Amino acid sequence: MKTAVYRTALLMFSACVLAGAQTPAAAPPVDAAALARVAGAGLMQSQVNTTLEELSDDIGGRVTGSPQCNAAIQWALAKMREIGLANVHAEPWTLDHGWRRVSAEAELLAPVRHPLNVASMGWVGSTPQGGVDADVVAVNIFDLAGEMKTHAAAWRGKVLLLRGEGQPPKNPMSVFTQLAAFLRAAHEAGAVAIIGGQSARPAAGMELTHTGVLGFNTVFEIPVVNMGAEDQLQIERFLDRGKPVRMHMDVQNEISGPTPTANVVGDIPGREDPGQIVVIGGHLDSWDLAEGATDDGTGAVAALGAARAILASGERPRRTVRVVLFTGEEQGLLGSLAYVQRHRADMANHVAAIILDEGQGPIDSIEVGGHDKVIDELAPLTASLRGFGKLEIGDRSSFGTDAGPFILAGLPGINLGQDSPNYRYTHHSAADTFDHVRPGVLIRNAAELGVLAYWAADRPQRLDAPWTPAQVAAELKAQHLDEELKAFGLWTFGN
Ligand SMILES: [Zn+2]
Repeated sequence: MKTAVYRTALLMFSACVLAGAQTPAAAPPVDAAALARVAGAGLMQSQVNTTLEELSDDIGGRVTGSPQCNAAIQWALAKMREIGLANVHAEPWTLDHGWRRVSAEAELLAPVRHPLNVASMGWVGSTPQGGVDADVVAVNIFDLAGEMKTHAAAWRGKVLLLRGEGQPPKNPMSVFTQLAAFLRAAHEAGAVAIIGGQSARPAAGMELTHTGVLGFNTVFEIPVVNMGAEDQLQIERFLDRGKPVRMHMDVQNEISGPTPTANVVGDIPGREDPGQIVVIGGHLDSWDLAEGATDDGTGAVAALGAARAILASGERPRRTVRVVLFTGEEQGLLGSLAYVQRHRADMANHVAAIILDEGQGPIDSIEVGGHDKVIDELAPLTASLRGFGKLEIGDRSSFGTDAGPFILAGLPGINLGQDSPNYRYTHHSAADTFDHVRPGVLIRNAAELGVLAYWAADRPQRLDAPWTPAQVAAELKAQHLDEELKAFGLWTFGN
């Protein structure tokens, strides 16, 4: 018996050696057992929920440039060191304008009297101290150009209520692109305030207001409030029946000058090629009506959890996995733009950026930012990732998250989509609190991000090589994103 076992073992050993010596190319590109150890550590040794509870409940809303955001930067530095990341540091950058919410109050005066639920949008101005009484006039957001041309003269002293009438434009982004010109024209015409929302959308949810900015890296002097849908719909019904509507509006904000902030960076150095970098991250900043738990506490904490899983697995990928927690996302991807600018000379050594920023639901898609080759490269991993749940893979380029600036720099800026139906309520609202986070889903997302990051960093060949600016411009035009990017001031490719 002993001899037979020994012989069998010896034969198996020889077979392994032969396989290793003769067919190295046939070996799996990334060690599946290593990926399984990362997934296992991510699922079984997770601390993401306690980490997010700290960031949400203890620090709270984190408007870029605010004391709370600065506290979050210090917290993130300490957390990265505690996890065991190397090269942990802050990368300072400057926001052109700081902004602080003071108060927003409104009351319907006629035809009936009651308080109105409003919140100021971000990076907008104030009414005179003590507020103003004004009549309300509707403005059709589907025809802002026409409204400016024919009605601006009648806007002096009025509150303008943005609502959609008739057919919406084919490209919903065209509303957003005209909004800046409209807000400036309304201010010039002497309107006292605007009722509207981000991308001119009305509020979602039961008496919830949603804040946000109305342009990238810009300030509008006219006060703009978002109003609870129920209050706004009553005003719209009065206007539809020809009843004059009058309201009191008192909005106070503080706009300041250049304001320092910082992205937070920490590395898992690669074992063979530490100069090659896979970025994973989300944004540390948030809005302030609540505590930014789902936007984007979940993404920031999942990136930290993914790094912790890789370190806990005992495995080290070939290249560096870098966690970057950005600030200034909510003001127009400003932190990720600053990161790309700061590392411009080193962008060719960046392999990809993988961003998680779509709320509290499970990851359900990978969008590779136009780099179709990455879809093929992902194929061997796709079946394993589907062990986590439903997953679609597409080539869409996302400029709604920090993936965008990496796409502009020619890299696969990979956005992870999430199935988050309740995000429309929690996003930018007073309901963005820790109790809306699903603990099991957050653990799963962090583990999945860890697997994806390890895989991207450990492949023998890098993912799709960086594109030239001409290649990037052609792909963005093919995806019909050029107009939108020009409107955001992000198009740097000429005509
Ligand atoms: Zn976000």
